[in-house]
Amino acid sequence: MQHTTVQHIKAAGVVGAGGAGLPTHIKADAKVDVVLVNGASCEPMLASDPYLMERETDTMLDGLEAIMECTGATRGVVCLKAKHAEAVAALQAAVARRGAGRLEVFLLGDFYPAGDEHVMVREALGKTVPAGGIPLQVGAVVANVETLYNVAEAIKGKPVTHRWLTIACEVNKPMVVRVPVGTLVEDVLAFAGGARIAKYSVVDGGPMMGRVLESTQASVTKTTSGLLVLPPDHTVVSGKVMEPERLRRITNTICCQCSFCTDLCPRNLLGHPLRPHKLMRVSPEQAQADPAAVREAMLCSECGICEKFACPMGVSPREVNAQIKKTLREKGIRWESTGLSPENNPFRECRTVATKRLVQRLDLAGYDPHPHAVEHFTPSHVRIPLHQHIGAPALCVVSAGQKVHVGDVIGEIPEGAMGARVHASLDGVVESVANGFVTIRA
Ligand code: SF4
Ligand code: SF4
Repeated sequence: MQHTTVQHIKAAGVVGAGGAGLPTHIKADAKVDVVLVNGASCEPMLASDPYLMERETDTMLDGLEAIMECTGATRGVVCLKAKHAEAVAALQAAVARRGAGRLEVFLLGDFYPAGDEHVMVREALGKTVPAGGIPLQVGAVVANVETLYNVAEAIKGKPVTHRWLTIACEVNKPMVVRVPVGTLVEDVLAFAGGARIAKYSVVDGGPMMGRVLESTQASVTKTTSGLLVLPPDHTVVSGKVMEPERLRRITNTICCQCSFCTDLCPRNLLGHPLRPHKLMRVSPEQAQADPAAVREAMLCSECGICEKFACPMGVSPREVNAQIKKTLREKGIRWESTGLSPENNPFRECRTVATKRLVQRLDLAGYDPHPHAVEHFTPSHVRIPLHQHIGAPALCVVSAGQKVHVGDVIGEIPEGAMGARVHASLDGVVESVANGFVTIRA
């Protein structure tokens, strides 16, 4: 029998808002000692998590306590960067009020990727997650700030229908904005005053791990943390749009084996046996022929430090690893975790990458990293994807012409599958159900 809170979370369609969208009821069903809140907001330019920690402090902490209760955790640790002073002050006051001892605030330095789960566990708990493992193996779960906000709302019976996100860089009004899930990117951009350059690309997510959208007709999902509007030839965009096979050939050809990528790799520094410079010697054909020999690529978090910061040749070990990982997954090859925590590299601390330097390297220093405008936007229609989480797509349970209200279930978890419910985010009429999307017009 599932804990009532877990049932509420499942019914509300809560998924990990900061990553690939793992349904939260699965994480909440584990037994752990400590819940870490990932408030690092470590991708440059993204500002909605610090905003939520500062302005929705108690709601977020309600969500944290709910997850602590159902996982049996006796400690809840909110991890955020000391530089977010307003959020730190709000959290410290709330923690003192609600029960210091059970709840703590842990201050992180300003480096990237402070929000990598493995790095955060090491910083906050002094424990190292085994290579290829998950924080559960050291008695922890890591939850994102907005996920916990959504958990608190779920307990009140409110499903996930909206998303907080940052709109930044080449827009007329950079802002943190709350929009219904399914809002079209072009509508959000128009609300932010439009792009201030004629030709632009839009990055969905942060500059390091986000992806360039093919079209502004794309929808905001439960996992959209930000939209960065940038010139098409900007450093952040150019590496992301090259055809992957070409990028890999160039990388294999140009790599000079300096090993800087390995020296600065956050997972290698934790002691995981990931050596990107060695993987650069492997051609796609070799990886296909002997995939087991390159299985260490599975340890790559795709944080992008090697590609965007370390490599003097401007090539992409991250992309090579991503391609090898895909091949390995297709062949059913997995990393067999030993369950043992490795020794960290003794130079780990002095090799972390300061966000300030990263921002300069990414050519983002000219943009406001903390947009102060906070807005709410309701569009005239939404196009809601039925698949915005890890697991099976939701099964549509509405049809064209049907009236719906915000919070009505429009997509159900298929029987026996892992997945997440999807809900209407606008009062209106279902205009169409097609190609995995439900369009609702207000
Ligand atoms: S993307 Fe590069 S730096 Fe990051 S974990 Fe993978 S190999 Fe290491
Ligand atoms: S940093 Fe670049 S050039 Fe140096 S080993 Fe890694 S991929 Fe090759």
